[in-house]
Amino acid sequence: MRKELDRVRNIGILAHVDAGKTTTTERILFATGATYKQGEVHDGTTVTDFDAQERDRGITIFAAAVSVEWDGHRVNLIDTPGHVDFADEVERSLRVLDGAVAVFDGVAGVEPQSESVWRQADRYGVPRIAFVNKLDRAGADFAAAVASIRDRLGVTPIAIQAPIGAESGFAGMADLTADPGASLVEQVAELHSGALEEYVETGTLTPASLRKALRELTLSGAAVVVLGGSAYRNKGIEELLDAVVAYLPSPLDKPPVTDAPLAALVFKVQAAATGRLTFLRMYSGTLRKGTEVYEPGAGETERVSRILQVQADRHTDVPEAVAGDIVAIVGLKHARVGETLCDPRHPVVLEPPSTATPVVSVA
Ligand code: GDP
Repeated sequence: MRKELDRVRNIGILAHVDAGKTTTTERILFATGATYKQGEVHDGTTVTDFDAQERDRGITIFAAAVSVEWDGHRVNLIDTPGHVDFADEVERSLRVLDGAVAVFDGVAGVEPQSESVWRQADRYGVPRIAFVNKLDRAGADFAAAVASIRDRLGVTPIAIQAPIGAESGFAGMADLTADPGASLVEQVAELHSGALEEYVETGTLTPASLRKALRELTLSGAAVVVLGGSAYRNKGIEELLDAVVAYLPSPLDKPPVTDAPLAALVFKVQAAATGRLTFLRMYSGTLRKGTEVYEPGAGETERVSRILQVQADRHTDVPEAVAGDIVAIVGLKHARVGETLCDPRHPVVLEPPSTATPVVSVA
């Protein structure tokens, strides 16, 4: 599972309650082949019956972080609570995201709660793509949803797909980037100088330079790529995964937070049968099984007995984790959410950022 960092995507799915975050996540797990495997080993217990597997899957969907594979990339789906009442928790998890998929309801478009989560993601400088879900529902309107993204969120949406059919006749999405039409090309050229140059010279854009420009616009926040589908009918999910890989950043696209030997941020602590799971995002250095980590907040040093990568259908023991990784340590007693884990010989504290880039102070 070791991947080059440019092939890692640490993303969250941001959504208004009921917009379809759970269904979309489930379909992503299914599309990536992570579910419905028989006889896998779950932390030492082989799953033999379907009920147990279903139960595990249900739990996994709500796990703090799940790793899946898509097109040679590792996509870490980091759970972000959707409800505005959990604003603190939303903020904590937003810190560890490199990018996000904002899911909107194709009937309601941008709703007040999606707006507030969107603003929080703005504060943390999290690049986003948008997925307009439920296009199979009566009253769903892709174009209206795209317009509501522009009007309510004050960003420039760029629809890179067009719906085929509508409401109960909704059959899927057509990709507009493979053979880009004039309106998409003009929209992108207007926002991106490199694309404008090519457009002026050749009268169009190749699909490759269109996608490159879209990626750069997404990373800078100058535009938001919009896709659509129906998670319920399993339409548009593979295209969404393609877009995650194509347009959302890798950990390398973010400026390094610290050059400390080891610095990781705890973003979630969960009880599990295996013991307390401490989920963390690695910012620098290497975390090795069997070594000790220092928790400056608690003033404690603890041994790392197990490091897990949580996948949809199993937990995999890994010997180490490096910058950019999302993993869980089993059995730490003291680490709390928001805490830094570091090398006992090189204490460092990752401070909660009030702006896009976390700052570092040496303890
Ligand atoms: P969450 O609250 O954002 O996690 O939303 P869920 O995934 O639980 O979905 C809320 C409801 O909308 C459920 O009843 C889903 O079955 C339904 N739903 C989700 N996606 C779609 C879709 O694409 N089309 C339709 N018609 N219903 C959907």
